[in-house]
Amino acid sequence: MRVLLFLALLASFNDDEWQERLGRERYRIMRDKGTEPSYSGTYAVPGTSLVYLCAACDSPLFRSQEQYDVGNGWPNFTYPIAKESVYYLEDWSIGFKRYEVLCRCCNGHLGHVFNDGPPPKNLRFCINSICLKIENQE
Ligand code: FE
Repeated sequence: MRVLLFLALLASFNDDEWQERLGRERYRIMRDKGTEPSYSGTYAVPGTSLVYLCAACDSPLFRSQEQYDVGNGWPNFTYPIAKESVYYLEDWSIGFKRYEVLCRCCNGHLGHVFNDGPPPKNLRFCINSICLKIENQE
């Protein structure tokens, strides 16, 4: 029940409230669809057994078991923790088609998904570290 009330509260946030909740840089990325500078985040290299939550709404999004290091300075994953934890939007903002990845619960921008990942799914979810937090940590 508390979780549902929390999500209902987030759904009612206006821009000012999001800015206050997320802070300037996280707001720029999660609500304005920005990208953090490469290597600016702390999760570029996979850790041990971690669950990554949405930094805005605490939904579980990714696990380090599906994370791999491609050397580009962002955390990359083969798949989200569950199919329904994220959704996708077509993004033409830099002149060619990409797929934006968003948090299903709070509509926060997370990053992009590409089709150059390892088999069998060949997916690479390239996610901004600042959009993630580790379970039980702030
Ligand atoms: Fe979220």
